[in-house]
Amino acid sequence: MKPAPFRYHAPNSVSETVTLLAELGEDAVVLAGGQSLVPMMNLRLARPSDVIDLNRVQELAYVEARGEWLAIGAMTRHSEAESSAEVRNGAPMLAQALPHVGYPATRARGTVGGSIAHADPAAELPCVLLAGDGVVVLQGSNSSREVPAEDFFDGPFTTRREADELVVELRLPRRGDHEFAAFDECVAKSGDFALAMAAVTVVMDGRTCLRARIAIGGALPVPMRCRDAESCLEERDLSRAAVDKAASIAEAQARSAGDGSGTAEFRAHLVGVEVGRALAAAAGLGGAR
Ligand SMILES: Cc1cc2nc3c(=O)[nH]c(=O)nc-3n(C[C@H](O)[C@H](O)[C@H](O)COP(=O)(O)OP(=O)(O)OC[C@H]3O[C@@H](n4cnc5c(N)ncnc54)[C@H](O)[C@@H]3O)c2cc1C
Repeated sequence: MKPAPFRYHAPNSVSETVTLLAELGEDAVVLAGGQSLVPMMNLRLARPSDVIDLNRVQELAYVEARGEWLAIGAMTRHSEAESSAEVRNGAPMLAQALPHVGYPATRARGTVGGSIAHADPAAELPCVLLAGDGVVVLQGSNSSREVPAEDFFDGPFTTRREADELVVELRLPRRGDHEFAAFDECVAKSGDFALAMAAVTVVMDGRTCLRARIAIGGALPVPMRCRDAESCLEERDLSRAAVDKAASIAEAQARSAGDGSGTAEFRAHLVGVEVGRALAAAAGLGGAR
């Protein structure tokens, strides 16, 4: 199928883009890598009045280490972030997650900003941003704001972004000393959207876990932090028993957040498995739960 008719705009800068967004109103959309938007338009699930193509907005494609932060421009392709030494060193959890985003062809065009703005509940990057205490930077025509990842994702394909705002940057605190991270997911076949995923970071003092962040996704309407599982690890020895307990708490949280159907029950189980695997990897325990 072909998309419904629309007007096409190709701005060269962020300021031109946000001016267009403000003028054209909420039926206008921006086009980034097109990996989700174009199929939706072709299937007529999306019928925007105007398409604002970001592909000439060069200023949004970068990966930069800025003091304690890693900043990634919204138009950075998944494949560019995947091959970035800054990402590998500063945000190893993101580096682990990126190869799971679709296929090489998807990652060659798809953008990190697009993944965050689209907010697919089964997407990897929102889950990583949550576990990494990340921040989404939004630019409107008159002002910009920084939204913690935890406040950004509202529901399936829904975020706190206003229609006239552009996602311009993602920020993740760069990995600190004694901080370990892991990402793991379960898919029916390589390249598919995940059935369940977990992103974790732990800050260790010897075998003691000082701070834990656990985010789960795939089996839920929106990726979420598992605070109860985190607090059962903090200030304790990160043993296999502690990991198993945290995984069980995450599974119970996923079950209560799901729709209770047989499939949701199974996927909640997979969430527990993924949390156990990611925690074991981050803690250097090895072996699957
Ligand atoms: C075969 C296939 C497999 C895939 N598998 C996965 C997978 O396993 N995991 C996964 O996470 N994704 C997967 N995807 C989706 C892919 O990651 C997309 O790239 C991503 O969802 C959207 O990024 P994009 O740059 O292509 O955005 P687009 O498709 O261009 O846009 C998506 C939406 O986000 C909005 N948007 C884009 N950029 C911005 C911005 N900067 N500010 C505000 N709004 C913006 C658009 O208006 C649109 O509504 C897959 C896609 C395909 C085709």
